[in-house]
Amino acid sequence: MSNQMPDLQSAASTLALPRLTVPRTVDRSRAHSRMLRPLRVMKFGGTSVGDAACIRKVAEIIHNNFRESDLVIVVSAMAGVTNKLIEAATLAEARNMAQAAQVIDDLRQQHEAAIGTLIHSEAERARVRRSMSGLLEECSRCCESTAVLGELTPRTRDWISSVGERLSVPLVAAALATRGLNSEPIEATELIVTDSFHGAADPKMDLTGTRCEQRLRALVRGGVIPIVTGFIGATEAGVLTTLGRGGSDYSASILGAALKADEVVIWTDVDGMLTADPRLVEGATTIPEISYREASELAYFGAKVLHPKTLRPVMQGGIPVWIRNTFAPEKKGTKITPAGSTSHGGVKALTAVGEAALIRVGGPAVSNAHDVLGRTLATTKAVRADVLLISKSPSRNHIFLVVAASVAQRTVEALRHEFIANVDDGTPDHICVDSTVAILTVVGENLHAVKEIVGRAIDELNRDSVNILAVGQGSSACNVSFVIARKDLRTALITTHNEFERGPSEPPISNRSNGQSFMIPGQSTFASEASREVSEFPRSYRVLASTAPAKARDVEVLDEASFRSMIAHERKRTERSRKPVLLLLLDVGKSLTRDKNGKLLNNVLSALAASTRDTDVTGWYETQSVIGVMFTEIGIEDPGAILGTMMHRVSETLRGNLSLEKFSQVRISLHVFPENWSQEVSEGNPTLYPDLERREKAQRFGLILKRTIDIVGSLAALILLSPLFLLVAVLVKLSSKGPILFQQERLGQFGKTFTFLKFRSMYVNNDPKIHQEFMKRLIGGNHHGQAEGTEDRIYKMTNDPRITRIGHLLRKTSLDELPQFFNVLRGEMSLVGPRPPLAYEWQEYDIWHRRRVLEVKPGITGLWQVSGRSRVDFDDMVRLDLQYVRSWSLWGDLKIILKTPLAVLRSGDAF
Ligand code: ASP
Ligand code: MG
Repeated sequence: MSNQMPDLQSAASTLALPRLTVPRTVDRSRAHSRMLRPLRVMKFGGTSVGDAACIRKVAEIIHNNFRESDLVIVVSAMAGVTNKLIEAATLAEARNMAQAAQVIDDLRQQHEAAIGTLIHSEAERARVRRSMSGLLEECSRCCESTAVLGELTPRTRDWISSVGERLSVPLVAAALATRGLNSEPIEATELIVTDSFHGAADPKMDLTGTRCEQRLRALVRGGVIPIVTGFIGATEAGVLTTLGRGGSDYSASILGAALKADEVVIWTDVDGMLTADPRLVEGATTIPEISYREASELAYFGAKVLHPKTLRPVMQGGIPVWIRNTFAPEKKGTKITPAGSTSHGGVKALTAVGEAALIRVGGPAVSNAHDVLGRTLATTKAVRADVLLISKSPSRNHIFLVVAASVAQRTVEALRHEFIANVDDGTPDHICVDSTVAILTVVGENLHAVKEIVGRAIDELNRDSVNILAVGQGSSACNVSFVIARKDLRTALITTHNEFERGPSEPPISNRSNGQSFMIPGQSTFASEASREVSEFPRSYRVLASTAPAKARDVEVLDEASFRSMIAHERKRTERSRKPVLLLLLDVGKSLTRDKNGKLLNNVLSALAASTRDTDVTGWYETQSVIGVMFTEIGIEDPGAILGTMMHRVSETLRGNLSLEKFSQVRISLHVFPENWSQEVSEGNPTLYPDLERREKAQRFGLILKRTIDIVGSLAALILLSPLFLLVAVLVKLSSKGPILFQQERLGQFGKTFTFLKFRSMYVNNDPKIHQEFMKRLIGGNHHGQAEGTEDRIYKMTNDPRITRIGHLLRKTSLDELPQFFNVLRGEMSLVGPRPPLAYEWQEYDIWHRRRVLEVKPGITGLWQVSGRSRVDFDDMVRLDLQYVRSWSLWGDLKIILKTPLAVLRSGDAF
């Protein structure tokens, strides 16, 4: 492909570079510096508001803090309530409305009890009760309609699960009122503007910032304490969304960033982040200070104390986040800061994922093939399995991946389907899984020390005959993980914690990130998908010592080959799942990549990372000049809006990161697959078919030969058959009124239209509807469209009243097809290839059907025609076409050409 950005198709659009305003600078110019009081956003989790007594404690903490700082409060639902709401929704979906109603009634009683204890004024109690009843009634109605439909949409699910937070906020407000504190309950739908990814929405920070300023600032200045529902937000259009389970932490950091707060405090039921799980390791202690990056790693690798996305919004502003215990407010808790501290030799904690599974994809030289890694990742992503570690073995004969045990089965099935059950050739010949393993991860900014500690622990464990199955270093360069049998987890934790307590032997190396470079938001989970490396069966830490040095950059970018194979596989998957994928391309031009220390490129990558989500994959579409991001699993109520949002998000972030000059050199384009959102026939977008381009390159010689044969063959046929042409022309002309040739728009390769030629076999002015209807039934229906109750012949209509008598003869002998040799000569068709479809057929095609046309030039005859023709069903026909494309060879073409006359004679029915 040329270096130019591909032409934009109907579903793609180019960004008109926006006029620039002053680039946004990140200055935390305490907007409230006029005031002496700092601003804190404090979040209280489910257990902190678990019952009336707890809520009183919360009110006390708020009261104490209010003496010294302005406050914005975020609250979760009472403990267990969100689970119950989701249970009710699920019961309703299963049409079990009676039980769903029971669950909702339990919730009513639970909240009723809290209201009774917390609120003393009769009038106030009645008011809160009324609003609670209203909400729960609405919730019941939502469940009822779910039960009627028997379907729970993500949107409804979000709405139902949001009720818990909306019920708990008034309770906290009431508790504050009894202390004489002035508060105002606010639904986060008014404040947090999100995208429309139901169940895991992400905020649009600019809009959120404006709304928070408008709605909250004045309240806070006026001495009122806003109490905001955690966990929820709303799209620009006002549709309620949720941020994901446990998302109230995220709500708090979003509000903190939006208001440029001085601190965010997460009040929970543990003392802070601990050096290890205290239930498993005696002597685990609270970590006083930890870096954003370390904390993110801990959250990712199983420490439940913090929602993994929490730190993203606050990173840019460097706002510290505290984790503190509601039930022991006298303790200091853990402070999460940009740089953390070098205490304890720069090694912070260990964490474990107890329920993990080790999957091995094996086969000759598997780990050498780009394709296998790309396909493996695409497959795990499609089944939403978070890959905790991935490796190629030194022997190159397998790839290891570790996932949570709960997703192991579906991951393995998907992988087997991808590699083994598939007709596509795959090098892996076995995929096996061990679901009885655990991962132990040691986290710390001082990677050297982390490695040393892990190495010592592994030596120790080897001595105790504990088998280490794999070891790996995370791409964020602040953790090392190892895999063991689950039964050994406790021993491993204790042993490792002992080594941890002894500390590293060398003096701590000064902090790598020197407090200036923040971890890129989203990087830790993101990178984990692509690049955690594991080496195999180390007997000692020597293997660790040989682990590749820490990567210099924080964003994982796949190389061109892997990225392109990823695109191809995502696209094929979409053909089956119908979930659209979106490819965003940034043509950064040479000037950015030529920049010596890669700083600008880094800025672009950071910008991208900030505006992408965990499951998106970044890679080189063209090495060192075009960066791509694949967005998969996107919701599609309003594709236009999503395209707009993506463009906006990315360009905004770029604008904030690049100078005007550099920014104007970046070209952005978006490509959507499938391309039929607008329902018009659109041409296939070649950008999304990098695999075809590759194949074309590989087969270039063959293609030239094929074209040569086409030219020679069609010329020869036209000359040799010219008497026959003349005869048929005369017959057609004489038999009925109308032209000799029948011309029709057909779709050629990449959906380009061309005029397809035939001898006319029908009366003119007939109604195309008859055929249209027939095709619709054939493609969309059971694929065994019986033509007017005759035999089970498909595709061709029999007894069509529109056909002339000479037409019948022409069709029977296939002589009507002869003019297509002109199409071949013109290069629109080939002698051999799939039958070219009509535009309206194309519209009825399933997405994967389209490949038959996109992948090759259409032809006069093909595998389908010579293998039983109208007797196979439509899907089979497409499969034959695709098979033809895959296994194309010159010899194969010749065989098909030779078989054609016989097939025509034998069938007695034309194609
Ligand atoms: N209530 C929500 C949940 O249980 C959000 C949260 O507690 O953070 O997932
Ligand atoms: Mg939580």
